[in-house]
Amino acid sequence: TDLDLIRNFSIVAHIDHGKSTLADRLIQLTGTVAQRDMKAQMLDSMDIERERGITIKANSVRIEYPAKDGKRYILNLIDTPGHVDFAYEVSRSMRAVEGSLLVVDASQGVEAQTLANVYHALDAGHEIVPVLNKVDLPAADVGRVKTQIEDVIGLDASDAIEISAKSGLGIPDVLEAIVTRLPAPKGDRDAPLKAMLVDSWYDSYLGVVVMIRVIDGVVRKGDRIKMMQTGAVYGVDKLAVLKPQMVDIAELGPGEIGIWTGSIKQVRDTRVGDTITSEKKGCETPLPGFKPAQPVVFCGLFPVDANDFDTLRDAIEKLQLNDSSFSSEMETSAALGFGFRCGFLGLLHLEVIRDRLEREYDLDLITTAPSVVFHLHMRDGEVLDLHNPADMPDLTLVDHIDEPRIKATILVPDEYLGDVLKLCQDRRGIQMDLSYAGSRAMVVYDLPLAEVVFDFYDRLKSVTKGYASFDYVISEYREDYLVKMSILVNDEPVDALSMMVHRDRAEMRGRAMVEKLKDLIPRHMFKIPIQAAIGGRVIARETLSAMRKDVTAKCYGGDASRKKKLLEKQKAGKKRMRQFGKVEIPQEAFISALKMD
Ligand code: GDP
Ligand code: MG
Repeated sequence: TDLDLIRNFSIVAHIDHGKSTLADRLIQLTGTVAQRDMKAQMLDSMDIERERGITIKANSVRIEYPAKDGKRYILNLIDTPGHVDFAYEVSRSMRAVEGSLLVVDASQGVEAQTLANVYHALDAGHEIVPVLNKVDLPAADVGRVKTQIEDVIGLDASDAIEISAKSGLGIPDVLEAIVTRLPAPKGDRDAPLKAMLVDSWYDSYLGVVVMIRVIDGVVRKGDRIKMMQTGAVYGVDKLAVLKPQMVDIAELGPGEIGIWTGSIKQVRDTRVGDTITSEKKGCETPLPGFKPAQPVVFCGLFPVDANDFDTLRDAIEKLQLNDSSFSSEMETSAALGFGFRCGFLGLLHLEVIRDRLEREYDLDLITTAPSVVFHLHMRDGEVLDLHNPADMPDLTLVDHIDEPRIKATILVPDEYLGDVLKLCQDRRGIQMDLSYAGSRAMVVYDLPLAEVVFDFYDRLKSVTKGYASFDYVISEYREDYLVKMSILVNDEPVDALSMMVHRDRAEMRGRAMVEKLKDLIPRHMFKIPIQAAIGGRVIARETLSAMRKDVTAKCYGGDASRKKKLLEKQKAGKKRMRQFGKVEIPQEAFISALKMD
């Protein structure tokens, strides 16, 4: 195809501002999908995405559009993930296209993810067309939002397109603007093949499917191609474009976006951002800036019922086929039995995976408190990654500990600003910037990621009644006074409950934990001390008093069937107990103790 007749673009927006609805309208108006096959949110394929209204993996669609100039254009829309946890994937997929539609809900205005995503687009050198959506709503304030786009983002919004993705108003103008205002791709058809790996996923019929954007050269069915990072070579068995269903194609040239398959075993072998070239006479320099996504948040996943361990292992393996950024390692815990220590890109990623395991594989899981990766600088000069507080070595061997810090941007209506500042301050935050966009304040904080993975999103939502929006990037690793806090029940350490905390916050966290456990652990025939300790030093303590006499005795009366039921219930309860030295702790106690609230 002639390069001048191609436009590649993405849509950037804050969640719920109408990205998926607009994509649907573009697909519908151009007749890309027959009317009878149209369903809402064509590009959001996973159930969980639809339910939560978020797009997790990038996907794409090729639209053919006859423009007013009488020519037929090919428009490739790449749908980028819309959440902070997937920032790396967002920034990569942005580099596969030349322009963006910036969608802003005209009744809401610019939000934190509007900013974060538009910055990715600007970084990628995009031409940007502002689109004001939901102008059908009575609360829409086009003038105010245009000013906001100009003041906060610094983009000219005078010719922003006003649309209603819901009713279809203004959609033809959007299609025309894509052709007239976004640049055509550049590329050299005669140069050696150079393509960017934009995305990959596992398909149960086709195996691993790889989405690419061709920069230079041509890829044809039957070619042998090489991934420059991994060095792996594959044959191109199938080459297709997505409309959004697969349609086979003979070749993909410069500026084009499509998919190929070629007996690749695991998604792991296909790294987003990698450069693809020909096996022979390939290009010499790969595309710049490749770095694989690294898990930053870790937690343990254990089956509530130990018999489900094999099901859990199989389920994790299946999900990993489709998500190379999710890592796992077997773990045993005295409290929780056999399970896995898993790594995620962020809290949402963790929630999504846990939800899918529970729903799609019908598992009941215990999730231990999420923890970040700490860098341990040992006295002998070695630097170790700590993924699990239970693995913390002897303190005398550690010189200092670095933790990941983030740069967080929060947009919030003025009246909640005080509460937001207090929350950030309580979480060891350092204020970096505070400015106003209309009646909304924009604050930038330097915060420890460890404090954010705990329950920050929930707290932020509740103190601002849901009106704040939040986004972050990981900035750096920095030293702080961090310690491992252990929990001892009847003088036995319970590894599943240990955590890394800041020294100044240890007493508070320890006190909260022992108080909670005191209510959760049933009384025994003897006194049970419950303690929080740092090294050998106890920093908080509660004592669970002994049962006075056997109060259960009087339950055994009445008719035989009731008695039987009671015994069965007790047996079931017994199975869910974990033995800790002489103490039995019910499963529910762990679940509640580890809940983030
Ligand atoms: P996304 O998260 O950006 O993909 O947003 P969606 O496309 O899922 O839209 C979020 C919600 O806004 C849905 O309930 C849509 O029906 C609604 N919505 C989208 N566009 C419009 C519009 O133009 N007008 C109105 N009133 N609602 C819209
Ligand atoms: Mg969406």
